[in-house]
Amino acid sequence: MLQVAASLERLGTETAFEVLARAKALEAQGKSIVNLGIGQPDFRTPEHIVEAAIKALRDGHHGYTPANGIPELRQAVAADLHKRHGLEVDPGLVMIMPGGKPTMFFCVLIFGEPGAEIMYPNPGFPIYESVIKYSGATPVPIHLKEENGFAFSAEDVLSKITPRTRLIIINSPANPTGGAVSRAECDKLAAGLEKHPHVALMSDEIYSQMLYDGREHVSMLSYPAIRDRVILLDGWSKTYAMTGWRLGYSIWPKSIYAHAERLAVNNHSCVSAATQWAGIAALTGPQDKVREMVAAFDQRRRVIVSELNQIKGFRCVEPGGAFYAFPHIGGTGLSSRDLQKKLLEEAGVAVISGTSFGKFGDGYLRFSYANSVENIREAVKRIKRCLS
Ligand code: PLP
Repeated sequence: MLQVAASLERLGTETAFEVLARAKALEAQGKSIVNLGIGQPDFRTPEHIVEAAIKALRDGHHGYTPANGIPELRQAVAADLHKRHGLEVDPGLVMIMPGGKPTMFFCVLIFGEPGAEIMYPNPGFPIYESVIKYSGATPVPIHLKEENGFAFSAEDVLSKITPRTRLIIINSPANPTGGAVSRAECDKLAAGLEKHPHVALMSDEIYSQMLYDGREHVSMLSYPAIRDRVILLDGWSKTYAMTGWRLGYSIWPKSIYAHAERLAVNNHSCVSAATQWAGIAALTGPQDKVREMVAAFDQRRRVIVSELNQIKGFRCVEPGGAFYAFPHIGGTGLSSRDLQKKLLEEAGVAVISGTSFGKFGDGYLRFSYANSVENIREAVKRIKRCLS
């Protein structure tokens, strides 16, 4: 009998990958599946980015790079943050990561241990709660409510701070709800945090370029008074349809950058060199494909919200960002998990139970609308038929 570490029992998972595997298995049996489960753009990575990676390979970029990324890419990230948010970022504080996820893992490993408290959005990206528990810290949920459009309330977050709070994780625009936080709420949070100098903030802004109806993105790095405690998580996966490339970045406070860098050296050494050159092409090249993709998501968002609200027992608020709709489905009389299963097995529609994103996701389903309008309409038709 092999004995494995007990800590592994505390590690959760991301159900989206299991649903994807089941959907693929059903497809292999010849069943037709409309996949609104997995959260990734249904677009190809823009051609000039692919070409930059090919060129990098041809030019001989085959070796290790510095663990924190090539200087050219760290400079491009700093320039991009300046262009988008007017931020002055020292390229020396940028860390290139193999995707967005490693930043949350590293950040929680740096602050989390038994006795520490870490706040996280619930419903929220499932990996937050998973890695907090893994670290031994106590997860303290920030309950995101439908009546607030699933945006956090700064007052609520601040009221939960204790002397044991080490880290607060926020995410706007949000997965799985599409919730987007207003500037006023970000201002309130930043002002409130000034009174709690022992608390760090990790702001997951991976959907920052996917906002609708004229909403603006406010980066939590833009508050000078708390800047030395903010970790920014962002990346290429969603903005440039590059989920499979595994490329992300984080900006760290000077005081903990070395810890993050050491974790990188211990964990992955560096990100693939060619991928990093592709990342430069993405940030410095034309942005028209990004705009086209966001416009397509916006159109689909309108379609899916209106369609979902026509299903008996469903109620869906309009998401302000990202590419997810999060309808309440309590009126169907089924639990989120039962409905997820029924829709996949009987209707051939892959969606994710709200409970996969935390206990406050109970009664909801997540629909990713990174799929064509035609497929979205087909999915809703199938759901109506299945529930009638
Ligand atoms: N943060 C959020 C809120 C996400 O939804 C995701 C992916 O779904 C990530 C981070 C991770 O992104 P990546 O695929 O770059 O690791």
